[in-house]
Amino acid sequence: MPRVLLGKRCNMMKLGTYVFLPERADGFDFHLFRVKPEVGRRMPPQPDMYSNIAIFGDNVTARNHPDWISQSPLGPAWRTNNNFNVRWDILCHTQPEHRAEQLDYIEDVARNSPGVWLNSIHFAEHGHCTCPRCNERWKKSGLSWLEWRRKEVTDYMAQVSERVRDRAKKKFVIGVLPDPVTSYERFGINFDDLAPLTDEFLVVMFSKNYATPWYWEMLTRNFKKIFKEVPLNISLYVFGPGDDPKEVATPSELLTVSVRMARAGVDNILYLTEKKSQMYDFQKAAVGLKDLRERLSSYGQQPVQDYLAKVADWAKVL
Ligand SMILES: [Zn+2]
Repeated sequence: MPRVLLGKRCNMMKLGTYVFLPERADGFDFHLFRVKPEVGRRMPPQPDMYSNIAIFGDNVTARNHPDWISQSPLGPAWRTNNNFNVRWDILCHTQPEHRAEQLDYIEDVARNSPGVWLNSIHFAEHGHCTCPRCNERWKKSGLSWLEWRRKEVTDYMAQVSERVRDRAKKKFVIGVLPDPVTSYERFGINFDDLAPLTDEFLVVMFSKNYATPWYWEMLTRNFKKIFKEVPLNISLYVFGPGDDPKEVATPSELLTVSVRMARAGVDNILYLTEKKSQMYDFQKAAVGLKDLRERLSSYGQQPVQDYLAKVADWAKVL
């Protein structure tokens, strides 16, 4: 009999709430309260709600210590840096004062609530962090750059896990970003390293306005890693046969997703329509989106510039 790969649940499914205010809605099995979200403000933990803490995404600490911001060849991890998917300011992963303060804070929160669920446990993105301290720690480690980052994340999570599980004797959950294949290259995360340190994983799937470009870019990175040297073509539906005009992607969504795929390394992009007139409609709309194209030009380096130049050239043939 062929074995069918089906997700087997560990326990009876529960439903929870995930909230910014310490208010428990009825009809749920558990509640997760954002004690310290990425904006960096801190609220008192609740005895009957799990506590959610973001460690390195921390706008308040970044504002107070701008020199602690994570560094990279494409600039620091301020939330205004469009080269990365950073929605908040992200600190260097090895900043010793922040690491120590967060360890004590997390243990204290664990003692005053049923457990701790973490976010933002990792390096900001690919290429981070290149501050002098990180460079020195990397060189001293004797490891490759990616393996050194993995060790930093795993070792720090082991310390946090010890504080929550062993000292405070509370439940501990590690949150990760939605990228099952290239989290190692991007964030320094190895899931097998973290599994023994955590009771459960949380995968944070973002809001709709963030989700589409995120997932398209992530899938591009994932396929590039799996296909290795074989070039990756991706096709996007502009207008398929029988498509409802109200359901198809807008030209601005198509341009945004294309740029995000370009910076993630896609080799070629195909646009699918039923007929030529629909393609011309898309091209005309794309050429007309001057403000968007201007904004997208800050989203990456040469591959993004090359893509946007081709779109601009459509003005000559229409
Ligand atoms: Zn650093």
